[in-house]
Amino acid sequence: NDYQLLRIPGPTPIPPSVQRAMTKPMIGHRDQETKDLLKQIKPKLRKLFGTKEDVAIVAGSGTAGMEAAVVNTVTPGDEVLVLVTGAFGDRFVKICEAYNLHVHRLDYPWGVALRPEEIQEYLLHHPFIKAVFATHCETSTGVLNPIQELAASIKEVTDALFIVDGVSSVGGVEVNMDDWQIDICVTGSQKALMLPPGLVFIAASKNAWNTIEHNQHPRFYLDLRKYRDNQQFDSTPFTPAISLLYGLEQSLQLLDSEGLANVWKRHQLMKQMTRAAFEAHGIPLLTNDTDASPTVTAIQPFNFHPDNVRQLVKKEFGLVLAGGQQQLKGKIFRIGHMGYCTPADILQTISCLELGLAKLGILYNVGIGVNAAQHAYLRGG
Ligand code: PMP
Repeated sequence: NDYQLLRIPGPTPIPPSVQRAMTKPMIGHRDQETKDLLKQIKPKLRKLFGTKEDVAIVAGSGTAGMEAAVVNTVTPGDEVLVLVTGAFGDRFVKICEAYNLHVHRLDYPWGVALRPEEIQEYLLHHPFIKAVFATHCETSTGVLNPIQELAASIKEVTDALFIVDGVSSVGGVEVNMDDWQIDICVTGSQKALMLPPGLVFIAASKNAWNTIEHNQHPRFYLDLRKYRDNQQFDSTPFTPAISLLYGLEQSLQLLDSEGLANVWKRHQLMKQMTRAAFEAHGIPLLTNDTDASPTVTAIQPFNFHPDNVRQLVKKEFGLVLAGGQQQLKGKIFRIGHMGYCTPADILQTISCLELGLAKLGILYNVGIGVNAAQHAYLRGG
């Protein structure tokens, strides 16, 4: 739908140059052209994750990357700790349980960030935990967990691997794997990387590679060793998603020319603009400013049903917003502001939402949200 304004937290809109790159004619997956493509992508992906190690590119959705992180590092019966701040932390639990791991879970209320000091304390009392799983941006709540602090707290007390779901953070928020001591970080193509769904990226530290190398867990398609061994020759173990790689090359080029630091700043600005608009209307946000993510905002209204306004703005303006998941179903709506999204898009989104809420008779003072967002823009976030 050419008139659709897609503002869900993934999949996200695709920049025209990325769209064009993906229409290139097919090439042989074992030919030099594919090797050249993979060679160009390689250093840019390392930079994106803040690592010196190669990043595996696997055809699959984000969940395949989460599963890869599990099957490559632990075996049935191993103790793992999963930190649950929403639906995607819960997914890590489900994957770990499916593989018969001994799962410890620490749950936080949906809408607040995890607390590194509590996790450190837990690890001190449970010395056999081999891996800790966390979600960087919890897309279901719009929380950005303090991953850098958490990594430091974990590494202070244990040699357990630290595994991070960066699906809705990498590319929109700083991630510095090597400096922060993240052992595995996973992200998907359909969020801040401005691509269609279909690729997952998995980066592993030297420390993680030692474990991956010797881990006894059965695995085949998701065996990261295969991807690493092929990558040395700019190749992939299985047929790569070539069209998506063309798109990836271009999207990484876009991120590079804007400069990653500027990209992160833009996301921060869009967060502040979005939040300011709802605060101006007195419409509650699910998450406080410190815990809130630069890539997605969750709004928790008390005097209207979030799905009514979502339906209306979709019908009136083609504006597509996300609802709540699991325990937040029917209680929140979410605005994605990651990837191919700018402050101009935020002004449009807020403006359409104000009109939608006015049509529903929920608010009368249209414009004050846009005005607050404009002022947030002028303040620079
Ligand atoms: N983790 C997070 C944080 C996500 O936002 C998502 C997708 N919404 C996933 C994992 C799962 O990715 P996919 O749906 O591509 O399998």
